[in-house]
Amino acid sequence: MNNFEKYCTRFVQSVGNKEGAISPTITSSASFGYGDAETAEGIFNGSVKKPLYSRMGNPTTAKLESIMAKMDEGVGAIATSSGMGATTLATMSLLECGDEIISIGGLFGGTYALFNETLKRFGIKTTFFDVDELESIQNTITKNTKIIFLESVGNPNMRLPDIKAIAKIANDAGIALIVDNTVTPLSISPLALGADIVVYSTTKIISGNTSALGGCAVFRAINDGEDKFKNSRYSFLAKFIKGAGKMALIPNAKKRAMRDLGMSANAHASYQTLLGLETLPIRLSRIIESVEKVAKVLSAKGLNIGHPCLESHPHHERYKSEFTNGCGMLFTIDMGSQERAYKFINSTKIATITANIGDSRTLALHMATTIYSDFDAETRKFLGITDGLIRISIGLENPQDIIDDFLNAAKY
Ligand SMILES: *Cc1c(COP(=O)(O)O)cnc(C)c1O
Repeated sequence: MNNFEKYCTRFVQSVGNKEGAISPTITSSASFGYGDAETAEGIFNGSVKKPLYSRMGNPTTAKLESIMAKMDEGVGAIATSSGMGATTLATMSLLECGDEIISIGGLFGGTYALFNETLKRFGIKTTFFDVDELESIQNTITKNTKIIFLESVGNPNMRLPDIKAIAKIANDAGIALIVDNTVTPLSISPLALGADIVVYSTTKIISGNTSALGGCAVFRAINDGEDKFKNSRYSFLAKFIKGAGKMALIPNAKKRAMRDLGMSANAHASYQTLLGLETLPIRLSRIIESVEKVAKVLSAKGLNIGHPCLESHPHHERYKSEFTNGCGMLFTIDMGSQERAYKFINSTKIATITANIGDSRTLALHMATTIYSDFDAETRKFLGITDGLIRISIGLENPQDIIDDFLNAAKY
């Protein structure tokens, strides 16, 4: 049984209600009546579990959060207005001025800009590494390092991290590991591999049909005995551990980020995301098969394809041993020059030209002149963005149709 089968039962069974309206209820209310003063007090101090105000939580969103938390075996989850919202929530909840982040991998353009521009303005320093620079990563840890941030698959450089080895570095040093698992939900379970927080852009394959922007952060439980979050590096967590025990990372994220920064999910988007979740395992299972098939045929036909299922890829062995449920919906085609890349993009009839990934339909985008156009040559080189690089996100079409169309587009 592949990793996706077990989720098929779980998702459809937990998204639909057994009684009354089967489809999840959309609670489209910004605020909620408390009834009386005592209940209001109880809701605010957490002893009464009723909705407070939709910036802090919403019943439709809570349903999505509970399924997402179970998906990754977390203790809880917080859904957000976007994937960047989830990354901002997870990171800002652990940081203060003077802190440092170690960022490993791809890296998604928005996350790179958040770390390298926005957080920098607030006195937070980020050092960036390739997935295989384990020794340098180890040597860069200081007393101010609060977060190691990792993408499960380099987007778009397609490099694969040794997640267990990086988790070991983080755990030995007592530092939080946050994994952006947007590209590999269900395929990779970061918390089981030793991470502390998983972040998603649900906008992508989780919704799967481009109908809703959204994100989610999933948190692990704080251990009863020793736990790195009980160390002085995270002393601000002590009061949340006292109040919420193993759930502490959730009120910490709500009170130190969500309440004041307001990246809250809305009920309509949460509903649409729930509908997407229901079919995620079967969509992903098909797409992962198609990605390998299309990548291998195009490569055999002489196109320069970036995907670790190919023997030529530096992480082919890691792909076979650690990514047995695939590494998502992406691969790259390097056409050698911007001119040839544009010809390909303008000749494909199947691909939709857009910045999104993980959609039901196949998508394509020239990297250097779009998402990475603001970045200087050196940064682009670090991120693996060459002039001819096209990122492809494979959809649900028949894979042979995609192959035929791409071979035709590459001719021009
Ligand atoms: C899209 C994406 C994000 C940001 O998500 P939004 O929902 O667009 O804010 C973060 N990480 C990865 C890997 C992504 O692909």
